[in-house]
Amino acid sequence: MDSMDESSTSVPPKPFAPAVEATVDVGDPNKIIIIGAGPTGLALAQGLKKASIPYVVYERNENENIKRNWSMGVHWAIPCLKELLPEEVFATIERTQVDPHRSTSDTDRLTLLNGATGELIKSVDSSKFYRLRRDKFRKMLLTGLEIRWGKTLDQITYSDDGLAATTHFADGTRDTGSIIVGTDGPHSRVRTLLVGEEKAKVEPTDFATTMCFTKHTREHALFLRAPPHHPLYQTAAHPMGMFSWLSLHDGEDPDHPEDWTFYHYVSFKEPRDYENKMTNAELVARQKELAKHFVDPWKSVFEWMPDDHPVWYGKLRHWDPRDPGHQWDNQAGRVTIAGDAAHPMTFQRGQGLNHALKDSLELCKAVQKYWNDGAVSVQDRKEALDAYEEEMIQRGGEEVRLSEGNSKTMHNFEKVMESATVKAGMHLTRQGIAS
Ligand SMILES: Cc1cc2nc3c(=O)[nH]c(=O)nc-3n(C[C@H](O)[C@H](O)[C@H](O)COP(=O)(O)OP(=O)(O)OC[C@H]3O[C@@H](n4cnc5c(N)ncnc54)[C@H](O)[C@@H]3O)c2cc1C
Repeated sequence: MDSMDESSTSVPPKPFAPAVEATVDVGDPNKIIIIGAGPTGLALAQGLKKASIPYVVYERNENENIKRNWSMGVHWAIPCLKELLPEEVFATIERTQVDPHRSTSDTDRLTLLNGATGELIKSVDSSKFYRLRRDKFRKMLLTGLEIRWGKTLDQITYSDDGLAATTHFADGTRDTGSIIVGTDGPHSRVRTLLVGEEKAKVEPTDFATTMCFTKHTREHALFLRAPPHHPLYQTAAHPMGMFSWLSLHDGEDPDHPEDWTFYHYVSFKEPRDYENKMTNAELVARQKELAKHFVDPWKSVFEWMPDDHPVWYGKLRHWDPRDPGHQWDNQAGRVTIAGDAAHPMTFQRGQGLNHALKDSLELCKAVQKYWNDGAVSVQDRKEALDAYEEEMIQRGGEEVRLSEGNSKTMHNFEKVMESATVKAGMHLTRQGIAS
């Protein structure tokens, strides 16, 4: 496994034979078809539902359980989420945090330390900051939505009259709507269908890491969250060109620190085309070796990890929708992409989900603009979707490069102060300027 999402492979192209398929068209023929029940697709579905626009969500997984879990900071996109969700669903967001017992203040600070000495490099400012657990957040977003599980998108076809698009699934079924939205993650099948197998591939960067999720004794767990350590999350840049992270992943039971889970990694430079063949034991050993150069809490949290603890390797990858050859024909507004499907990025600036939620809101508004009680005008739809894509591609593409630049500076100690995160905080930036 060499990537940070549920699967590292995109679906290989198969000969397409629609004549033998069973039809399972559901609901309104003008509905919006969403491919992928991740945060982007679900937030969009919630927004469409709120606006009484028919939609259907198809997801390749058989049920709501996710194979890979991590935590994500949502900050500047909180207003987007609030606008998309019913009030009573948004009201439960604090429950989806890694520590559901800590209420979130209106501003926050992310501590960036010198990993070798423990000195403070910068206390990075942020607006309100929810640190969410991916599985609990997804469950919240599923509230009130009906998902068609176990459906893997394979192909898309378009009607000759310019009105409709049809999704064809791997199990031979299909469905027709007025727009197909690919929210199918970093290895998006929809993106592959739009720009071709080669051009759709996520590109490796010069950085990699190994994700570690560990539990500890009561005493050790309390130490990892006690002052001077931040109770939720902290980062460090190391003069040897490494970056480290430690955060709480599961603090559900405040009375039993021995049940808490911590999430930590040390990331490092690695040749772009390096093919990882290390065993789990070797990955653990390397993380432990790297962490020896750090002060606490990193030094200890890695030392305490058992040698055979299951971990996962992750190459940092991305895809810039502005690059030459990455442009696509949206078929008069009948197909588009959003979230990681449109702009997967390196995660150390903590921006992917925030942009994904912004995409969901902008796309929801674009549909509302042309949706005239379901009487679809091809011209209006095309204009609305073109405008959505223009804004999303620029904003998402800029962030892909800012996040890449941020990963570079975080692994180059002399340049840390020039990183987008240090200069602009966690805010939404355009051309590196905080807004
Ligand atoms: C370690 C890590 C830490 C991160 N931290 C942060 C952070 O702090 N802040 C932040 O903003 N972002 C963060 N991110 C990024 C964030 O996790 C992603 O941007 C976000 O989850 C993208 O959501 P998505 O819905 O677009 O994609 P996904 O969550 O990948 O969902 C895609 C869905 O589509 C389904 N699917 C795929 N292919 C098909 C198909 N062919 N047919 C049907 N369904 C399909 C998948 O099964 C999946 O359910 C982090 C990412 C990582 C890896």
